[in-house]
Amino acid sequence: MEPMIVSRFAPSPTGRLHAGHAVSAITAHDFARARGGRFLLRIEDIDGTRSRPEHVAGILDDLAWLGLTRDGPVVYQSARLARYQQSLDRLRARGLLYPCFCTRADIAASGSAPHGPGGAVYPGTCRTLSPETRAARVGQPHAWRIDMAAAVAITGALEWHDDSEGTVRADPLAQGDVVLARKDAPASYHLAVTIDDAAQGVTDVVRGADLFAATDIHRLLQALLDLPTPRYHHHPLLLGADGERLAKRSGAPSLAAMRAEGIDGAAFATALRTGQPWVGFSSPKA
Ligand code: GLU
Repeated sequence: MEPMIVSRFAPSPTGRLHAGHAVSAITAHDFARARGGRFLLRIEDIDGTRSRPEHVAGILDDLAWLGLTRDGPVVYQSARLARYQQSLDRLRARGLLYPCFCTRADIAASGSAPHGPGGAVYPGTCRTLSPETRAARVGQPHAWRIDMAAAVAITGALEWHDDSEGTVRADPLAQGDVVLARKDAPASYHLAVTIDDAAQGVTDVVRGADLFAATDIHRLLQALLDLPTPRYHHHPLLLGADGERLAKRSGAPSLAAMRAEGIDGAAFATALRTGQPWVGFSSPKA
């Protein structure tokens, strides 16, 4: 018997959801439901300074308004910090992590940051600090970065499967020494998402195409932490009327605002599913 399909929606409660998030939630929900599978909700609230409880309540209301049902308990990443810490300890024990004391300003000022598919690549400043300097600075706020070249040397070539692209050869090195534990949180998005997709038995990660490159890093972490690799489905992003990716800062209305206006959520969900034009949005870019 085929194992049961499990998909998930994993929003960060740092603001109100808008139609772009609705597309992600609906796509992941429908993927599981069409296959008799389970659809889970995980709240990615490790960002203590930006996550807000009122946004969590809003997310639950938004999903109900869209007519989406979910299975199992809601998982909160803020309750799983000890689990992330264990994995960090494991990677640190293998010599794959180093403390990074750089501020954003330091990195910008280094002027040498090349660009990778996930944005600016860390120039590696703290990778080569001497053990004495590290020991002297250990009381200062620091993040933990992965030494990507060392990690890739261990894992060798890696692949993952994308629904539309087929077999993808991972190139995590192109994204440099990403942060796995932040100055203010014992995990980064990359670490927590990889651990939790495995812990929740997610078989199919359905999410926006903006996270395509991030999957290379998640695949690497799966290899290092002996976690299974799910299948990936990166859906096209919804565009605003200006043809740009929909975002709160470009004035996309929140689902909460649409709800308050009396818009029927199920009808809106149908419009998104079928690519019907809706005032202010154009169809997802393929
Ligand atoms: N929490 C991430 C976000 O809201 C999405 C995580 C994922 O789907 O992998 O952008």
